Amino acid sequence: MKEYFKNIFVALWTILVGLRLTFKHLFVRAVTIQYPDVKLKLPERARNRLYVNIDDCIGCRQCEMACPVDCITIETVKALPNEDLGVTSTGNKKRLWVTKFDIDISKCCYCGLCVYPCPTECIYMTDVYEFSEYNRHNLIYHFSNFTPEEAELKKKQVEQFEIEQKMKKAVKPAEQVTVSNPGNPEEKS
Ligand code: SF4
Ligand code: SF4
Repeated sequence: MKEYFKNIFVALWTILVGLRLTFKHLFVRAVTIQYPDVKLKLPERARNRLYVNIDDCIGCRQCEMACPVDCITIETVKALPNEDLGVTSTGNKKRLWVTKFDIDISKCCYCGLCVYPCPTECIYMTDVYEFSEYNRHNLIYHFSNFTPEEAELKKKQVEQFEIEQKMKKAVKPAEQVTVSNPGNPEEKS
């Protein structure tokens, strides 16, 4: 009988100890938040998802070279002499078409090394940190305005232009030799 009442006492005591802790926490300020409904304010220099303002990119590839994990891929095509690409918002002259600018964010370690060397400050960290995907290919971000077909076409235009320039240069010296050699008997006849 004594054991019976002892067990009841222990059970009640245990409940009271537990409830004491619960009641204590009712009056303590919460340290957690109701994420994702409530979000903490991020520090000013927090590193999250990268963004590229492609209109300001001059294709210098400094960000690509600085990246320690090679997750940036850039391809550029020289603008033709009759093409004026304008200037960036920082006043840098644009001379290259940026036909490809991909960032594989699944490889990114958020070191920020690509951000600092950019001369036009067009690659930067945003405050977006929720970008999980079911398909990892969706984590490759394409920033260029060119489709692969348009990029190919642009490349071909430049190749064609360079061929034409080479041909013109090849023709010119031959003309010069003919003009600068008046004693040539073949020319007299
Ligand atoms: S933050 Fe670092 S790892 Fe990510 S793209 Fe920039 S340089 Fe590469
Ligand atoms: S460093 Fe800046 S301007 Fe140069 S390629 Fe990268 S994003 Fe473009």
